[in-house]
Amino acid sequence: MNFAEVVLPLPLETFTYRIPAEMKVEVGSRVVVNLGRSHFHTGIVVEVHDRKPPYKTKDINACLDKHPVIRPPQVRFWKWIASYYLCKLGDVCHAALPSGFLPDGREWPFPEGSGYTPHYVTFVRIAENCRDEAKLSAVFDQLRRAPKQEAMLLRFLDLSHALNPADAREVSKKELQETDEATSSSVLDGLVKRGVLAYYRKAVPRGITPVCRTQPPHPLSDAQLAAHAAIIENFRTRDVCLLHGVTSSGKTELYIRLIADTLARGRQVLYLLPEIALTTQLTERLSKVFGEHLMVYHSKFSDAERVEIWNRLLRTEEPALVMGVRSSVFLPFHDLGLVVVDEEHENTYKQQEPAPRYQARNAAIVLASLHGGKVLLGSATPSIESYFNAKTGKYGLVELTSRYGDSRMPRMEVVDVRELRRKKIMRDTLFSPLLVKYIREALEKDEQVILFQNRRGFAPVVECKACGWTPRCPNCDVSLAYHRAHNRLECHYCGHIESLPSHCPSCGGADLQMYGFGTEKIEEEIGRLFPGAHTDRLDLDAVRSRMAYENILGDFAQGKTQILIGTQMLSKGLDFGKVSVVGILNADSLLNYPDFRAHERAFQLMVQVAGRAGRRERQGVVVVQTSQPGLPLIGMVCRGAYAEMAALQLAERKAFRYPPYYRLITTVFRGRQEEDVVEAAGIYAARLKEKLGERRVLGPVVPPVTRIQNLYLRQVILKLEASAALPPVWDVLAALRRDLQSLPAMKSLLLHYDVDP
Ligand code: ADP
Ligand code: ZN
Ligand code: ZN
Repeated sequence: MNFAEVVLPLPLETFTYRIPAEMKVEVGSRVVVNLGRSHFHTGIVVEVHDRKPPYKTKDINACLDKHPVIRPPQVRFWKWIASYYLCKLGDVCHAALPSGFLPDGREWPFPEGSGYTPHYVTFVRIAENCRDEAKLSAVFDQLRRAPKQEAMLLRFLDLSHALNPADAREVSKKELQETDEATSSSVLDGLVKRGVLAYYRKAVPRGITPVCRTQPPHPLSDAQLAAHAAIIENFRTRDVCLLHGVTSSGKTELYIRLIADTLARGRQVLYLLPEIALTTQLTERLSKVFGEHLMVYHSKFSDAERVEIWNRLLRTEEPALVMGVRSSVFLPFHDLGLVVVDEEHENTYKQQEPAPRYQARNAAIVLASLHGGKVLLGSATPSIESYFNAKTGKYGLVELTSRYGDSRMPRMEVVDVRELRRKKIMRDTLFSPLLVKYIREALEKDEQVILFQNRRGFAPVVECKACGWTPRCPNCDVSLAYHRAHNRLECHYCGHIESLPSHCPSCGGADLQMYGFGTEKIEEEIGRLFPGAHTDRLDLDAVRSRMAYENILGDFAQGKTQILIGTQMLSKGLDFGKVSVVGILNADSLLNYPDFRAHERAFQLMVQVAGRAGRRERQGVVVVQTSQPGLPLIGMVCRGAYAEMAALQLAERKAFRYPPYYRLITTVFRGRQEEDVVEAAGIYAARLKEKLGERRVLGPVVPPVTRIQNLYLRQVILKLEASAALPPVWDVLAALRRDLQSLPAMKSLLLHYDVDP
């Protein structure tokens, strides 16, 4: 074996290098190579062979690893992603590896010992001589005159459960200080000086929540036990099973049981979650059961943390549970026995930009099959595709139709907003009297309220009353939204910001009207209607600028916030006990997207948001405000009629040739000159029709937003029968792309594919 195929983290295919005689190189080793005449790069060996290429090859300059940093199934997985999602292997390499693994070749030779540094954390425990209750109550007597220390000690006991050893967990100094760092540090020091608490330091692997003693999973209810048995039965004959369980039916408890089963057999588990659903609440729930078997992989982690988790998995063949977001499908699993895809319908599982534009749920199914593992997809509102696969027998299907314990599904009430406006009952307000009444009652009973509007900012459109002028983004073909917090206009596509003019720049008129409404406007009106209530907002702006997502949720969980107003971020599997009212302010705005999934998605969002209500003993109520109360979809949301919605959607998808009956491959053209984009897309579409048939090609299509960040867009959509063989189609696409290179218009254009958009 004299040659190696090396992939670099660049949008390119592999390159062949010669392996010098004295060098030991394996698949998965990192190597330093020289590309063209330019500088050095680090890459990964994906194949060693002895097929001498017809040109002169360069030698590999150095091999960085004694042992490979990726495992054999991963190479196959990368190759599958690159071929299926029509991108370069280098794109996959770039997305898969923490960048710290592939140091910049310009810095070659790399300094010794760079890379791994252990991460030390200071923890707090009760000092040796204060361990028994008598001593502890004596301490509390002493602390009467030190209320801050008293409060801190209580906080420590609360977090650590030190008085209840079965439930105890380790508490870091940082965790104790979280509320206000400066003063709390001296308060803690005071308690240590008194000999009540003590510090200790230890190295903690990143991504791990320390726990002292783990607990067994909760016993399952009869319905959960039946579902558990049914899933196991399905896994005998199928690799994928869909768990369709209504909100709060106890799906998470079932996952926990299946994870425990798999770990007990010595295998590894991947628990995939949409980004935003990966909360402390869930991490704690899992770490209580799985202790140090649990590793968390979040996109907010630094590169060093990613490298550390990667290395830890690479070195272990032990059972392990990784809970992570989309990109954790790339981790070096040794023996994956189970993948759980929670909230499997979430569109954030699909990476939009940049390549690889992969769907992590589908990729996880391929990944599991490479390990001979099983996949459990879970949702209260499955994607139409997964549901179809389950109904047609490709996947198993297991259903949980009622909530866990005594909690009931919320009562749904529809309010006809148009009627109320016509009767002048609702004027200049976003709230129907019914919703106001429920909110008031909830506040009186010390219960909580969630208000949902899937639009951030104050108003999406501003318009001059006199001449109809609207501010638009200079870079994108959209109007600018008004944000009250900074009193400015913003583009939600490129982030462009400008101030709100005091007068219309077109006619000088002073009357600028706001149309539509977002979360900020709801917050403002709630402030007027319920001046005493504690409200908070959960949307992209709030998460970016004020407090992190976790803090907003933490305050809500602790009851500090009474009314939480937010966008779709609210819909992600949050489990709060005291929410009795959910308001969907404008159901109509969810329905009017020009996308074949619009109705499916509207149903999912509304049912998921509604599912936050009444998750314990008391039944919750959901108010759906709409100007089209007669729409069948609204009725289905209210009845929780998923199967009916799915049947209707499937009929439409079949009639209009959309997934799951057809597979879509979109080719996207982008460029600064609109004529070039139009010309290239036109020629491409025509040739594609010649090669694959008129019926299968749609376009060029003008997308709803025709220009983003100064790039004009056109799409050509290929609709293939689900049974069509893909490799011949890939060949056609590749050949066409090569042909197109000779076109002058193509010179300045970008072209990419989006498979299963
Ligand atoms: P889902 O994931 O279906 O929305 P969860 O698993 O979050 O539902 O369950 C809803 C609530 O019911 C949670 O607070 C959970 O702790 C509780 N729960 C569910 N199953 C059990 C069980 N077997 N024992 C105790 N509590 C349970
Ligand atoms: Zn004007
Ligand atoms: Zn813009």
